[in-house]
Amino acid sequence: MRQLILLCSLPLLVGCATTKTGLAPEDVSAASAKGDDVIWTDAASVEAQCNAALEAGRAVRDTIVRESASDQDVIRGFDNLSLAIDETYGWTQLMFSVHPDKVIREAAQGCEKSLSKFLNDVSLDRALYEAAGGVDGEQLEGLAKRVHEHQMRDFRRSGVSKNEETRARLAELHAEMVELGQSFQKNVLADVRSVKITDAGRLNGLPQDFIDAHAPDDDGTITLTTNYPDFFPIQTYAQDSALRKDLYEQFMQRAYPANGEVLLSLLKKRHEYATLLGYPSWAAYVTEDKMIGSAEATDAFIGQIASIARPRMEADLKLLLKRKQQDDPKADAIQVWDRFYYVGKVREADFGFDSRTVRPYFPYEQVRTGILDLYGELFGLRFVQDKDADVWHESVEAFDVYTGEQHVARFFLDMHPREGKYQHAAMFPIQTGLEDGRMPIAALVCNFPDPSKGDGKALMEHKQVVTYFHEFGHLIHHLLATRGDYVKLAGINVEWDFVEAPSQILEEWAWDTDVLQRFAKHVDTGEPIPAEMVKKMRDAEEFGLGANVMRQVFYTAYSFYLHHRDPTSLVLDDYTDEIFRDFSPYPRFDGSYVYANFGHLIGYSAIYYTYQWSLAISKDLFTRFQSAGLLDPVVAKHYRESILEPGGTRDAADLVRTFLERESNLDAYKKWLTE
Ligand SMILES: [Zn+2]
Repeated sequence: MRQLILLCSLPLLVGCATTKTGLAPEDVSAASAKGDDVIWTDAASVEAQCNAALEAGRAVRDTIVRESASDQDVIRGFDNLSLAIDETYGWTQLMFSVHPDKVIREAAQGCEKSLSKFLNDVSLDRALYEAAGGVDGEQLEGLAKRVHEHQMRDFRRSGVSKNEETRARLAELHAEMVELGQSFQKNVLADVRSVKITDAGRLNGLPQDFIDAHAPDDDGTITLTTNYPDFFPIQTYAQDSALRKDLYEQFMQRAYPANGEVLLSLLKKRHEYATLLGYPSWAAYVTEDKMIGSAEATDAFIGQIASIARPRMEADLKLLLKRKQQDDPKADAIQVWDRFYYVGKVREADFGFDSRTVRPYFPYEQVRTGILDLYGELFGLRFVQDKDADVWHESVEAFDVYTGEQHVARFFLDMHPREGKYQHAAMFPIQTGLEDGRMPIAALVCNFPDPSKGDGKALMEHKQVVTYFHEFGHLIHHLLATRGDYVKLAGINVEWDFVEAPSQILEEWAWDTDVLQRFAKHVDTGEPIPAEMVKKMRDAEEFGLGANVMRQVFYTAYSFYLHHRDPTSLVLDDYTDEIFRDFSPYPRFDGSYVYANFGHLIGYSAIYYTYQWSLAISKDLFTRFQSAGLLDPVVAKHYRESILEPGGTRDAADLVRTFLERESNLDAYKKWLTE
């Protein structure tokens, strides 16, 4: 059960993908160290803050490379580089995504580009590399040693130690890869396709509001596009299988053929980049600094999860086919355009669950209060709303976080849609907290129903409640990870393939009857959600799990093996056929071009595996709560201290081992998929 595609926050990705940031403690103003909110009101102040951060960063750089710098100065200097732009970078990414004023959004975007360029320059700065290389790592201790090791690793991975010609080629390749990635995404976004129908009866099965919103035009034509608000309802509800198929076909043809060329070109650049740095493939390069550690381990992991998910997938497909044969006795396979539709039909028939029936138990404000109470109790925190806070939009709420009487963190909730705002759900780290009292700050940005609109009830879908639990998990992680005094090792600066585990695990609470009954009370009657209803909801959710996970395994394999070979003689269609044959629950159909529109091939490249990897870890971590109780204070405290608070001060594998008191394994993941 649970959502399988979990939105990782945008800044998180950037944070994990790049060497993060920089300000010497002496350059941090007293105000920002305490974490004053930065609410920009004009473009000039964005630019002023941006320039100040860049100037501070450059000043730190000069202190690192000066001849008299001691080893300690150098190590501290590298972290100060991060500190110099930490807060500005955080606000910039947030404001670019949420500020109601387009002028500020654009100024923030401009600042983000300058800061990213600064970071990239730092990673290729020969003088900085020599300063770091001159440090005697053996003499360092504790976190300083770790900071140095990471710095040297990142320098090695950036190619700064290579000769001038190679460095120039790497820089060229880097720029070309960015360009190609942007073209790929642009081509997908721009290519909105559609299916036109003239018989309104073909919309049978769709909710009335959908039908009303798709009235025929003057010529009697109804247009259905490949955009999500049309695509998913058609796939889920349309009884007309030819209509589902036609729209799916259009969906899978987006950006074809243009992106075939773009992708091949990108794969070749990535391969050249990795081999210039001495790696056998791009997959070997991008897995090296992750928890999984190597391409070999990733290959083995894909084999393991495929064999775990396959039997359950086969059972699911059998049931789905049986249901499909009631409509079409000659059917001999479940096609990809059948999957949402028949999963829905079986859930309805076998579990009698209708997701609309639970919505009255989840009015937005009750859910928010319920989550704050729960997380407060679990992690020993107190949340106090700051009603006088300066915020960027009237609907945004600010909270101060206390442990006992101590003010330890601050966060914002920007939870409802509005024009020009980021459209998904994400946690934005704003300021990284440290043990010396530098306060962690973050924001949650979501698009949940708005109590200031309509009848004011703002009823949520249960899957939105799950998303709330998930994103709040990221928030708590960032706010509690303040151990040590190095920004680079605090907050969610953990291995990319671990970062989802602390949020995925908290989704489990959103499926627990006792937890739900604390706050899920009927909006009209005040009755807590019936246990029976929660059980139905869980059972319904679990049906189709095998096919869903196997579909994720397919994407995982697709993204990995594409980057684990020399692309010179690669034929995308042959490769696609092969991966479909080996991993896909549904056959490939003519005219489907996953390589032209699978957007994760850009941001995640070879490492789509991270979703299942961190999910497997979260299942393993959760076993401790399962046996002790979801609200057990001892386990929760142990979890807080051994998983959340250390942030990146230790390897994620170490944190997991400390909490579990053994190595992590796939047993819990397997149990989840087989029982
Ligand atoms: Zn996430």
